[in-house]
Amino acid sequence: MNKLKIAIQKSGRLSEKSLELFKECGIKLSNGDRKLKAESTNFPIEVLFLRDDDIPQYVEQGVADIGIVGENEVWEKNKNVNEIEKLGFANCKLSLAIPKDEIYTNLSYFNNKKVATSYPKILQKFFDEKKINVEIEEIGGSVEIAPGIGLANAIFDIVSTGSTLLMNGLKEVEVVIKSEAVLIADKSLSKEKQAILDKLLFRIKGVRNAKENKYILLNAPNNAVAQISAILPGMKSPTVLPLVEEGWSSIHSVVKEDEFWDIIDQLKNLGAQGILVVPIEKMIL
Ligand code: ATP
Ligand code: MG
Repeated sequence: MNKLKIAIQKSGRLSEKSLELFKECGIKLSNGDRKLKAESTNFPIEVLFLRDDDIPQYVEQGVADIGIVGENEVWEKNKNVNEIEKLGFANCKLSLAIPKDEIYTNLSYFNNKKVATSYPKILQKFFDEKKINVEIEEIGGSVEIAPGIGLANAIFDIVSTGSTLLMNGLKEVEVVIKSEAVLIADKSLSKEKQAILDKLLFRIKGVRNAKENKYILLNAPNNAVAQISAILPGMKSPTVLPLVEEGWSSIHSVVKEDEFWDIIDQLKNLGAQGILVVPIEKMIL
C-alpha cells in the first residue's frame, strides 16, 4: 500500500516535539528506537529520521514526501518545497549580535564589517535588501565565539534567552527574522499521498486548535447572560443552562488561551461566579 514518507529530525530540538505531535494525532509508531525508519501500525505513514539540515533537500527530491523542520532551515536551504503548516514549536529568532562594549545606533553599524554565521543566505538577502555591504564568514557551529577569537566583528545566529551571547561577551542588536517548526511537502505528491496528507493535516489542526483554546464554564445571574454571551462567542454560540437556583444560569463556551485572563476580568465584573477553565484535548471546527 502507498505510504506517506515523513522526514523528521533524528535527534535534536525538533525530535521529541515531532514524535509528540504524531502521538497527539493518534498515530502509533512501531519502533521508537529511531534507527533510520519507523512505520505506523494504525496510519499509512513511514517516518524517516534524518539530520534537520538535509530535510528540505530530501523533500524536494521526493525521497521524503513531507518533513518537519525549522523555517530557518527551509529559508536557508532555499529548496523548491511547499510550506504547508506552521506547527507552533521550536520558536526562535535569528539575530545580529556584536561585542557588548560596542556602541550601536542602527544597521549602518554593519557597513564593511565581517559577520560570522551558519545562515549566510538569509543574512546576505537581509543586507542586500537594506543595501548594506558586509563580508559574511560562513561557519558550521559555535558561531558565538567568532568575535572573541578575531574571526569576525559580529555574528548572526539563533538566539533564545541570550545567555550564550552574554557568556561570550556579546549583545543582541537586531532581530532579523523569527522562525518556528513547519510542515513542508514535495510539490508533486501523488493523489493518494495528498489524500493521506490531508487526513494528517486535519488531525494536526484539531490538535493545534485544542492547544490554543480552553473550555470555560461559569455561573451567572440571568440578567448578565446576554452580555456574557457576547464576550464568549465560542465555536458557534455558548450553551446556556438554567441552574436549580432561581435567577441563575450556567454558561459553557470556548476561549482562546491567550485571551482568557482579559476575558475573565470582564466576566467577574459582570457578576460571573464559579469560573472553571478546562483544557481541551481535540477540537474540530
Ligand atoms: P542536526 O544535528 O539535526 O543538524 P542541529 O544542531 O542543527 O541538529 P538543533 O539545535 O537540534 O539543530 O535545532 C533544530 C532547530 O530547532 C533549529 O533549526 C531551529 O529551528 C530550532 N531551534 C534551535 N535553537 C533553538 C532554541 N534555542 N529555541 C528554540 N528553537 C530552537
Ligand atoms: Mg542541523
